[in-house]
Amino acid sequence: MKDFSAEALLPQFPILERRINGRRMVYLDNAATTQAPLAVVDSITGAYTSTRANVHRGVHTLSQEATAAMEATRERVRGFIGAASTSEIIFTRGTTESINLVASSYGELLEAGDEIIVTVMEHHSDIVPWQILCTRRGTVLKVVPMRPDGSLDLGVYRSLFTPRTRLVAVAHVSNVLGTVNPVAEMAEIAHANGALILVDGAQAIAHMKVDVAALGADFYVFSSHKMYGPTGVGVLYGRRELLELMPPYQGGGEMIGHVSFGGTTWAELPYKFEAGTPDYIGLAAFRTAIDWLDSLGIEAVAEHEHRLLEYATGRMTEIPGIRIFGTAPGKAAVISFLIGDAHHYDTGVLLDHLGIEVRTGHHCAQPLMETLGIEGTVRASFAAYNTRADVDDFIAALQRVAPMLQ
Ligand code: PMP
Repeated sequence: MKDFSAEALLPQFPILERRINGRRMVYLDNAATTQAPLAVVDSITGAYTSTRANVHRGVHTLSQEATAAMEATRERVRGFIGAASTSEIIFTRGTTESINLVASSYGELLEAGDEIIVTVMEHHSDIVPWQILCTRRGTVLKVVPMRPDGSLDLGVYRSLFTPRTRLVAVAHVSNVLGTVNPVAEMAEIAHANGALILVDGAQAIAHMKVDVAALGADFYVFSSHKMYGPTGVGVLYGRRELLELMPPYQGGGEMIGHVSFGGTTWAELPYKFEAGTPDYIGLAAFRTAIDWLDSLGIEAVAEHEHRLLEYATGRMTEIPGIRIFGTAPGKAAVISFLIGDAHHYDTGVLLDHLGIEVRTGHHCAQPLMETLGIEGTVRASFAAYNTRADVDDFIAALQRVAPMLQ
């Protein structure tokens, strides 16, 4: 494993030098969006100052360079997640659009009474597109419950399958609980029952090694902005045979073979699913982000984040009245908590006064909040550039605000 020093990364993130309310900022909202290193920012600036030109159709040099930069990212993503072919890498606006694409397009192949399984801990973006599909096509949604520690009960999961089950959609890592779901095992069970599996990798991709073939994922989706890359771009990985069967998601330029009023044909994969001008500058910079993350070694990042998680969790027990939601073994570096009966919003505001940037609310997981019997939580989440000093400042801030809230 590579040597790793979070402190050594800090000069690459000028934003982390910011002060908030006169205090050193501690950025602990990485599950929502990570910061981008200067290399990524430079890639965007470089494109705007030297190669900005529309991709695909151009014969001129700028257009060809822009196309090559975008396609190089496709190959980089393919290798990064272990996909067999670049035909299987569809560029989207992010996780949400990737799931909507599958629900909308694969959904066309489903019939009334077909069943889809999701889990109680899904993000709204892995619930609502399936609910829309159920309304549109009469499909049925089933929900895997969880145990008190935030892990899924695979016994119940198995029992939900029927001959009508077509697809399972599950988060690789919960954005609230940090639970790492056993997706390889869940994929095996789904396949044994003749169903497909879509894995929402939004919270996994920057925190652990992901190999779509080893996981057995039929679809795997994620967003660049949660992996040190630009906003507005993301990926849908899909197995080629499935993508071939699926109808287009949106119509427009680039996704066609030939257009005539007598009938239109579709482009080859992956372009069949990429109508219109993509965010080719963001996509080019996305490759820089993957290079950057890979250069650190994802295993080294994972180990570092795990150490921070253990240190922070241990020290949080010093705070009277603290309740942590999600304690499954091997969980990722996400800590959702409440202090006594204090409202999550009040805690978040007070922490912000002290320069601590955490997320508060239902985290787009209202069904999970309902299961937990709460309205929301405060969530601290870690990334490669967080340090022990960040945790110490976070704990010191909690120690200050906790007595004000109880
Ligand atoms: N799924 C999970 C598990 C997430 O954490 C998020 C982002 N909070 C999303 C989906 C949606 O990602 P995006 O907003 O980038 O589409």
